[in-house]
Amino acid sequence: MIVEIGKDIAKARALLERGLVVAIPTETVYGLAANAIDEDAVIRIFEIKRRPRFDPLIVHGASREQLSNYVAAFPEWAVTLADRFWPGPLTLVLPKRETIPDIVTSGLDSVAIRIPNHEMTLDLLSQLDFPLAAPSANPFGYVSPTSAHHVFDQLGGEIPYILDGGECAVGVESTIVTEQEGELVVLRLGGVAIEEIESLVGPVRLQIQASSNPLAPGSLQSHYAPRTPLTLGPIDVSQYDLERIGVITFHTQIAGVPARHQIVLSPEGDLRTAAKHLFGGIRYLDSLGLPLILAEELPEIGLGRAINDRLRRAAASIVGKPV
Ligand code: AMP
Ligand code: MG
Repeated sequence: MIVEIGKDIAKARALLERGLVVAIPTETVYGLAANAIDEDAVIRIFEIKRRPRFDPLIVHGASREQLSNYVAAFPEWAVTLADRFWPGPLTLVLPKRETIPDIVTSGLDSVAIRIPNHEMTLDLLSQLDFPLAAPSANPFGYVSPTSAHHVFDQLGGEIPYILDGGECAVGVESTIVTEQEGELVVLRLGGVAIEEIESLVGPVRLQIQASSNPLAPGSLQSHYAPRTPLTLGPIDVSQYDLERIGVITFHTQIAGVPARHQIVLSPEGDLRTAAKHLFGGIRYLDSLGLPLILAEELPEIGLGRAINDRLRRAAASIVGKPV
């Protein structure tokens, strides 16, 4: 299939209305989108991504009214968070209605919903009379794409159109929140900081460490893995050939390592900027074919937590294992 990259919302709309899969920009990462209420269209997403069917998808809509058609309840805590963070990088997992096919939710009785904060995609969503199921537009297990070119590099041959909305403004996936037995639970760290959520709804429990968690497969330990082995921790380059390592740091360069092998996530030391540059940085270093990438752990606050989470998962991949 010959893929086209462009900014033609009408074209994306026409393809989606035919049940095809189109890559779309969001503020978090690029999504691989299809009509969420068309089972065959959703099956194509799983096939293109080579994603296991037990890994449920997030349903994207243009408005809370639209998304309310697919959930059985919109509890108070969810209203509070939606009021504050939508459109934005927050996903709510709520009890589902029959209106959402089981393939979208992997047979669970809940559905993940979100209004993304990207002008083109909001425009597209508001023109469609169905919501879009959209996981990240990368082969399952690899680093998520934050530009149209990232999508092209990996899925170019498998989809007809990539809607190009520029570089993703947030750069890490959405934070996922649900309720379990009366308690609020964060299933995935992401673009909305836990501190911000807690300031609105009180303490939340983190349930993100499981190495294999059928409720949140985004938390599989080796998710977001580059092909190059990556180690995480304080950076000590003394034992390495400095010409043969890649380095990811928060804000300072490492002396002696060639600048072209270094990604400084935010020279100003800003966690949001760092999140925005994370996946592109990992991809770039992975493309160099070096034997090792060393990554520095960021402060465990705000978006630093989501960044560290992704780096840990990238580091958890087994050396040499195809992902
Ligand atoms: P992705 O779209 O690739 O960012 O992945 C979506 C994430 O949302 C996956 O990690 C899923 O586990 C999570 N998710 C989607 N639906 C549900 C649900 N009903 N319950 C729990 N987690 C969900
Ligand atoms: Mg993903």
